[in-house]
Amino acid sequence: MTLRFLSNLQHSSSKGLAKCAICGKVEEQTGTFPLVIGVGRVCLADGMTKVKCDVCGDDVKLLTSSRLQGRALCLKDYMKEVEKFRQHIVQSFDEDDEPATTILERAYTKAPEGYTLLAVRRGRNSTHMWEAEYEKTEIFQMRCS
Ligand SMILES: [Zn+2]
Ligand SMILES: [Zn+2]
Repeated sequence: MTLRFLSNLQHSSSKGLAKCAICGKVEEQTGTFPLVIGVGRVCLADGMTKVKCDVCGDDVKLLTSSRLQGRALCLKDYMKEVEKFRQHIVQSFDEDDEPATTILERAYTKAPEGYTLLAVRRGRNSTHMWEAEYEKTEIFQMRCS
């Protein structure tokens, strides 16, 4: 009873009932099906099934796994993959908002913390967008030393 009460409180904004991404079962109360990254909401039975991590080969519960680019990953490897993606950051600037010279200067001086500016270039298929590409400083230094 207590559990039901709590979950009612947490989900007072009823967003509709989730459907299991694996078997299609619909949850009885909103918020009972956990979310698996890259898979979607799954019922508890499917959440408890084991999947093999494509990186380290460990058997993990579907619940604690994530799916990234078609691969099943355990939590540890998922965190590592996410880190890798964050090695590069691209920021856009609009020449309609400010002149190109300011964009170049700002791209250089306003680099995100811990990142080094690699390049500033015209955005693809655009006459007024610029893209600044940054790389994690430690990676940048590793490559350059
Ligand atoms: Zn299911
Ligand atoms: Zn793993």
